[in-house]
Order: sequence, then C-alpha cells, then structure tokens
Amino acid sequence: MSSTTQTLKVVDAFDLDDELRTLLKPGEMVKDAGGRRHRLPRYFYEVPSHDAAMSMRLSQHFALNEFTLVDLKEHARLQQYPRYIPCAVRLLVFYLEQFRSAAGASVHIAVNGGYRSPAHKLSLNATAHMWGTAADVYRIGSNILKSKEAIEKYNQIAEDVSEDLTVLPYGHATGSNADDHVHLDLGYITLVPREISEDRMEVPQENRPRFAFEERRRTERRAVSPEERAED
Ligand SMILES: [Zn+2]
Repeated sequence: MSSTTQTLKVVDAFDLDDELRTLLKPGEMVKDAGGRRHRLPRYFYEVPSHDAAMSMRLSQHFALNEFTLVDLKEHARLQQYPRYIPCAVRLLVFYLEQFRSAAGASVHIAVNGGYRSPAHKLSLNATAHMWGTAADVYRIGSNILKSKEAIEKYNQIAEDVSEDLTVLPYGHATGSNADDHVHLDLGYITLVPREISEDRMEVPQENRPRFAFEERRRTERRAVSPEERAED
C-alpha cells in the first residue's frame, strides 16, 4: 500500500458468515438505558490484518486501530482478523480532529473505548460505542483524565466544538457518568457509504457478496471520468 492512498473495504454485514452476523446483529433493534429502541449498523469497514489496522489512518491524527483496541470483554471471534468496524467511525474521527485541535494536545482513546460490538460485555444497553460513534478518551497530551476538574474541563471543550457532540457528566454511575475518561459521542448514526448498493434483501447473498472499496484520497476521487463526476 502506498503512503498516499488507501482503500477501505466496505461490507454489508448480512453477507458475513453466520457467526459474525450473529455477533454483529446488523439491522437489529436494541434498547438504550431509557428503553428507546435503535437499529444497529449494517455497513462495516473490513480490517484485514493487525498491520493494516496500525497503518490505516482515518484522519491525520487517528489510526484505525485506536478504535478497535479491546480486551477480553470483546468476543474472541471479533478480535480475529478480518475485523469489522461500523462505517460511521469516520464521522466520529472528523469531530475528534476538531476536539484535538480545540484541546491543543493529542487525544488518546482507552482500551474498550472505541467500537464495542453488541457482544461486548459492556454492551448491556445500546450505547453509541456499538455504532462506532463514541470514544472514551483517557488521556489528553500528558493529562490523565481522572479528576472531576479535568473531565469537566474537556467536556466543556467538547461541547464547545459542536452541539453534535454529547458528553457524560463526571460521576460514578456506569453508563450515565464517567470518572476516569471523557466520553464523547455523536449518537446513533448509521453511515451508508456511497460506494455500496443498498439491497433491500436482509439475508446473505451467497452468490453475490456485496462489498465495495471506498477511496479515501480526495484528490484521487476527483480523478474520475466526467460521466462519474456528473453525479456530484
Ligand atoms: Zn463511552
């Protein structure tokens, strides 16, 4: 892979094998802590290997692997490559870049603080982590976020970046507070990449797996034929 371009493979999770489909639950409804129902994402980036996760950048300062770092709380199958992460993670990264710049220092995501599948042990209720649209930040620059003062400071910075960002207030109630990280999320966003065809059939397409490659280099996207460009 060259250093200037990368493609991310997008898959329709209905086409993955039975075990993966059972774990990722594409399109299924889950309840949040308030009893509201939300539909789980269906389109995922496929991460082929650990090396790819390390080298693939989602933005200037965030690599893909920062959002897939989990421990034994995640299901073992979902820690084997190829691995999967909801496509909406790239919206999160856009906001994290702005948060990083407002905070004026590097932003470090905790283990289990990026994407968590519906099978993850912390996924008791629906949380934006299951959509790939939440991040638990445990350190900013050299500042470890464990005090009320630090968490409230960076919560305020996050809220000032955009009203799209939601944070959890400092406190000790799991799920509604945070006391050793700053939780940022965009809510329950499902992203459908333009490269993929949205088939209504929510069953595996054994003969015709649905996937596409998303070109992540804008300048190269511009180099398409005039007919293709017409759709913009
Ligand atoms: Zn969180």
